[in-house]
Amino acid sequence: EDLDQWNKEDLLEKDRKYVWHHMTAHNENPMIIASGDGSWVTDIDGNRYLDGMSGLWCVNVGHGRREIAEAAADQMMKLAYATLVQSHIPAIELAAKLNEWLIGDYRIFYSNSGSDANEVAFKIARQYHHQNGKPSKYKFISRHRAYHGNSMGALGATGQAQRKLKYEPLGVGFQHVPPPYCYRCPFGQTKETCSLQCAKAIENAIVWEGPDSVAGVILEPVITGGGMIIPPDDYLPMVRSICDKYDVLLIVDEVICGFGRSGKPFGHQNYEVRPDIVTMAKGLTSAYSPLSATAVSSELYDSFQEKEATSHFRHINTFGGNPVSCKVALTNLEIIEREDLVGRSAEIGNAFRSGLEPLQEHPHVGEIRIFGSAMGIELVEDRESKIPASVERVTKIVMACKSKGLLVGKNGDTVHGFANIITLSPPLSSTDSDVDFIIATLLAVFGQEEEKG
Ligand code: PMP
Repeated sequence: EDLDQWNKEDLLEKDRKYVWHHMTAHNENPMIIASGDGSWVTDIDGNRYLDGMSGLWCVNVGHGRREIAEAAADQMMKLAYATLVQSHIPAIELAAKLNEWLIGDYRIFYSNSGSDANEVAFKIARQYHHQNGKPSKYKFISRHRAYHGNSMGALGATGQAQRKLKYEPLGVGFQHVPPPYCYRCPFGQTKETCSLQCAKAIENAIVWEGPDSVAGVILEPVITGGGMIIPPDDYLPMVRSICDKYDVLLIVDEVICGFGRSGKPFGHQNYEVRPDIVTMAKGLTSAYSPLSATAVSSELYDSFQEKEATSHFRHINTFGGNPVSCKVALTNLEIIEREDLVGRSAEIGNAFRSGLEPLQEHPHVGEIRIFGSAMGIELVEDRESKIPASVERVTKIVMACKSKGLLVGKNGDTVHGFANIITLSPPLSSTDSDVDFIIATLLAVFGQEEEKG
């Protein structure tokens, strides 16, 4: 793109006057990103950065895919919009394609965002129990540190205090249990003594809340945005059997883990469980167009098919599953399949694992956690005490990466003093040289930190 047509100072002036930025205090001098190509983005000054977080864990196939742009333009000319009270070709084809990605049969309900997809899951779960003669089952169990979205229900499910302060009361009936955070086991256990008390905490929550009051458990296969918290291998299967025992639905939030990021088509496929409901967004379209989906097991769906109007799922979403977004998603999934980006994701993770080996001993690196191609580097003040690294230390590393042309994420809780996890999750299409660049940059940044002490 010809950047000369834009005057940066004019743009910044308008930005300062008119734009309300997400999540940050007013940012006087935001980066203005003007274009993207593969794993790289270019700012208004022409500086190039490796997009180490795929935007916000979403640009799975990388930037600048002409094939997707052309498919969208073509679909807009054919049919820009139709509701899903009727049907249309891209929605049908995409629902069928998603069933190739999932294991077992699922019905697909479309909406616009990850938050929407989770709200739909909560409503379906509550209605399901209602129709099964158990209207008192309305509560959901989720984990502290988890993020499930910004709307009142999804924020209710979120287990991060700093996002909820000042917005309460949120959706009611969301109870939280400790996460499976092995590095800081909430139950004081080690790998040797682990008896999955984190999974049993879910059973306790169900029993103590009253099984007749609990509709579902919602979880991500791995807590991503809350700090790349990877459970022990047996955790998810155990949660599945606990849910079965108490007639509680298992909702798996694949908004980040889905579409190859985990090294499998969906994150839960690393653990061989069949969720009742799977929610997805972000990588579904690689963020080329907003779209989300709630996949509901066919067993669950069947109970919504009585003839009385009261058994219909009474939910409509104007833009949900619009033809253009569905066509974009189909093209995106075709690219992931054709280029085997699911396999590539696992390769990227392995390259991180071996390339970053030297950081394992760094005095401020507590632990490096990798799931597929997504990585969290938990920073500490010192390895012995595991005191979370100070905001200043973490910010210095993030800024040092940026000054060397690498954009990384920062996760945790700034309000309560543990925003100490650096995250990386580059496009799954990243080339070997992109991955080498990420590794070399991190080694250089941490090397400099060490020199300074
Ligand atoms: N679930 C998870 C796990 C997420 O990470 C996010 C967004 N970061 C959401 C749900 C909400 O998605 P959206 O921002 O599209 O509403």
